[in-house]
Amino acid sequence: MTSFSDFPLHKSILQAIHDMGFEEPSPIQAACIPKVLEGGDLIGQAQTGTGKTAAFGIPLVQKVSPVNRVQAIILTPTRELAIQVAGELLRIAKYNKIRTLPIYGGQSIGHQIRALRQGVQVVVGTPGRVLDHLRRKTLKLDHVHTLVLDEADEMLDMGFIDDIETIINHLPQERQTLLFSATMPPEIKRLATRYMKNPQTIAVSSEEVTAPLIEQVYYKVFERNKVESLCRILDSEDVDLGIIFCRTKRGVDELTEVLQSRGYLADGLHGDLSQAQRDKVMSAFREGSIEFLIATDVAARGIDVGNVSHVINYDIPQDSESYVHRIGRTGRAGRKGIAMTLVTPREVRQMMFIQKQTKAQIVPRNVPSLEEVAERKQEQLREQLISLLESDEIADMYYKVTSSLLDQYPAEKIAAAALHLAFYSETGEEKEPEGYNFGETGAAKGMVRFFLNVGRNVNMKPQDLVREISESVGIPGKAVGRIDIFENFTFVEVPEDVAPFVYEALRQTRINGKRINLEPAKPRGAKRS
Ligand code: ADP
Ligand code: MG
Repeated sequence: MTSFSDFPLHKSILQAIHDMGFEEPSPIQAACIPKVLEGGDLIGQAQTGTGKTAAFGIPLVQKVSPVNRVQAIILTPTRELAIQVAGELLRIAKYNKIRTLPIYGGQSIGHQIRALRQGVQVVVGTPGRVLDHLRRKTLKLDHVHTLVLDEADEMLDMGFIDDIETIINHLPQERQTLLFSATMPPEIKRLATRYMKNPQTIAVSSEEVTAPLIEQVYYKVFERNKVESLCRILDSEDVDLGIIFCRTKRGVDELTEVLQSRGYLADGLHGDLSQAQRDKVMSAFREGSIEFLIATDVAARGIDVGNVSHVINYDIPQDSESYVHRIGRTGRAGRKGIAMTLVTPREVRQMMFIQKQTKAQIVPRNVPSLEEVAERKQEQLREQLISLLESDEIADMYYKVTSSLLDQYPAEKIAAAALHLAFYSETGEEKEPEGYNFGETGAAKGMVRFFLNVGRNVNMKPQDLVREISESVGIPGKAVGRIDIFENFTFVEVPEDVAPFVYEALRQTRINGKRINLEPAKPRGAKRS
């Protein structure tokens, strides 16, 4: 087992990684970090979600100095990725004086020019916009010692190969080139042979793994109300003991705090706790004095507690092996167990990938509504009240309050008000999913209409599209609304509540071999503003 401190990294970087809550390097990180630090070109291949950004980001931050020159450039296929990668680099470089700038189309170029003038050490950009800056001479790459081609296969799919070659020709010959990709189509290999010097290839292929035969479900949730969704799920389940998995130590701490403040018997377990603290949490869990154990993968390794009824992936696991390890904590010794995974729109594809690799049946479920939760809560509340009524544990103080009110109000109303006072704050209000406002798309009521850049030209039939949507977001085919297929494009309507999931899952997938792009449609007859 490797740890980040096994690598020759500056203390400041190790501290930053610690703050990010990463417990141990993922397999691609463990293999790549030392190689990149040594120098030399490298090709890293691993599935989405396996931590490729930090695999190059950590050694890259170490190699960059605070002098006022662009020393590293990272090319990414989309603006979202550019922003995401720049954000991760910023966190890694938290204690280093290194400036990272994402540059992408769609943002004012003037703003980017000003930012570049102020001096940055690392540029993360989409090929088109980077070229634009090179032509305007607002970006100089003469001092770049590291080039990263991130998500190279996606850049290829988006037709950026020529742009990438032009950019490479602006770079010094003497440099380290790193290429990361989930897949290795021949064009990428060709690019590597042409522009890399004796590259080493590190491929972390996840082997096929078999998931245990327990019930497996997933819930579509939004990042913004993930906690609320989790609570509703927990409230509508009969849990003996549950293990809730988070990606990072920080995630564990944050979720532990929220769940405790909402009154759940929960405690967290991760590598920063002392052995004594861990033992205490574990024995509380075994005895059942805490109901939920919130843990990272590392902390939960080797935990063998008999009556874990629920494993909940609050954060989706990094790969199928991790999925199988996690869910194997339940259903032990022939007992019944269920594994639940929370999936945000961006993670649907990863869920589908895990499902395919493990050959497991992972069934979509809806997050229970407030009403459904309320019904269960009423039942539980009644039971709690009865046991209290049968005991002598109610303090005199409470009797004094109720009896002084009895002249004015009916007993039933007083009791209900008391319950309201005790429990009201628990239920959160419904929030709008953030960041997915598709606007007016000309769809039927309650639906969103999307525009697809393919049609009959790729032999797409309505049933192909329905199958793709229904399989990738787990909705019945009949929930898909009106479909209009034209020669070169298509309109399709889907229910509002799953629209963000359809949008993220379908964007950049393929139908009959052709990459599809998806945009919210413009309302019919709308005036262009
Ligand atoms: P990829 O580029 O392979 O698709 P990312 O680099 O985007 O994957 O990482 C996916 C997620 O995993 C990110 O949220 C990232 O912060 C997190 N992550 C990466 N490495 C680790 C680690 N060692 N421990 C915990 N979380 C990690
Ligand atoms: Mg990536």
